[in-house]
Parts: sequence; structure tokens; C-alpha cells
Amino acid sequence: MSPTFNPMKLHHRRCREARAQMSGLIDGELDQGSAAAVARHARWCPNCRRMLRNLRRTVGGLRELDDEPTPVDRPPA
Ligand SMILES: [Zn+2]
Repeated sequence: MSPTFNPMKLHHRRCREARAQMSGLIDGELDQGSAAAVARHARWCPNCRRMLRNLRRTVGGLRELDDEPTPVDRPPA
């Protein structure tokens, strides 16, 4: 076991990776494996879960505004 191993440092790196991919996840631009990895991380990481939820709400709000002229394209809630 390396004495310099720091689980928190690893955790922070996973958070950075997850957060970097969150916008892609919300836009549906992520491949299935990456999307699953971000979702899995957000499931056990409260910070990332909250960030993902906020991001979803923000993007969803923006989309709703964008979709206003074309309500036909709006997905069922
Ligand atoms: Zn995290």
C-alpha cells in the first residue's frame, strides 16, 4: 500500500470527470458507458447529485423557453 494514496484526491478527480461530462449527459451527447458512469457517480456522491439536479433543472427551464414557439416538439412530461 502506498502511503501517499489519498482516497479524497481520487474522489475529487472522479467528481471533476463527472462534472465535465454532465452537460454532455443532459444534452444526450454522451455514449451509454460514459452516461452510466456519471449517473453511477452521482448516485453515491451527494455533491455531484445536487449539481446534476440543478443542471437538469436549469437546462430544462431553458429548453422550455426555446420550445415555446414549437409546442409540438415538446416531449411529454
Ligand atoms: Zn462527485
